[in-house]
Amino acid sequence: DLSAGRTPPPPEQVDGVKHIIAVGSGKGGVGKSTVSANLALALADLGLKVGILDADIYGPSQPKLMGSNGRPVAMNERLIPIAAHGVKVMSVGFLMEENRALVWRGPILAGALQQMLHDVAWAPLDVLIVDLPPGTGDVQITLTQKTPITGAVIVTTPQDVALIDARRAIDMFHQTETPVLGLVENMSTHICTSCGNEDDVFGHGGGEAEAKVQGIPFLGALPLTRVLRETSDSGTPIVRAMPDGPEALRFAEIAQKL
Ligand code: ADP
Repeated sequence: DLSAGRTPPPPEQVDGVKHIIAVGSGKGGVGKSTVSANLALALADLGLKVGILDADIYGPSQPKLMGSNGRPVAMNERLIPIAAHGVKVMSVGFLMEENRALVWRGPILAGALQQMLHDVAWAPLDVLIVDLPPGTGDVQITLTQKTPITGAVIVTTPQDVALIDARRAIDMFHQTETPVLGLVENMSTHICTSCGNEDDVFGHGGGEAEAKVQGIPFLGALPLTRVLRETSDSGTPIVRAMPDGPEALRFAEIAQKL
């Protein structure tokens, strides 16, 4: 029990940010960052002011995904987030040298996240998407205890090994009394680029079934497609690169449900 025997200090609001949505996963590589980026853009398309905080210390992907590299500058003792595709982006990646690992221990990592929340000029924002590291470590627990979050979105693939870990992530949010807004199943089915054939590489329906068991909303399924990967690698996520495509439509549906 993560909250046993401790009375955490009251959560501290982030100035000028109305809602914080944490995007988590049990495992790495399931598409958490891809979903965070596209969801942020889909929310911006609804007319909201959106930011992305890339807190994935072990593999910060937002600079590449959002095509934004550069060093944020400080003004009035706050870092100015980088503007990309109509949203504000801050990433631990901006503050790290490429190809260098961050060798910080848990408490320091958790402190870095607090700084990225409070010492960055986010305001005014309707929604701040926090792309969490995978799993249930110090960064996630500190965030849920120290910051009032509107809710968490869990990303998983339909595979059993991913679902087992997703269950742990959901349990962590339950234990820290963070509302779970729902589950997204990524890489749900592979759609072949040349023939359109659908193949359930990682199984099918596991995410939806798990959401039902856990009593949380199922937000939607995203296919495994070449264009999704290519657009992410090119620095223009699919919601911007192919706004009329089926993937963008799916992200728009998920954004509406939040
Ligand atoms: P995580 O944040 O969970 O580690 P990423 O979002 O970085 O995962 O995704 C891992 C890799 O898989 C990236 O190369 C990404 O472009 C690719 N990817 C993610 N989702 C899809 C998808 N639905 N179809 C194709 N490639 C995907």
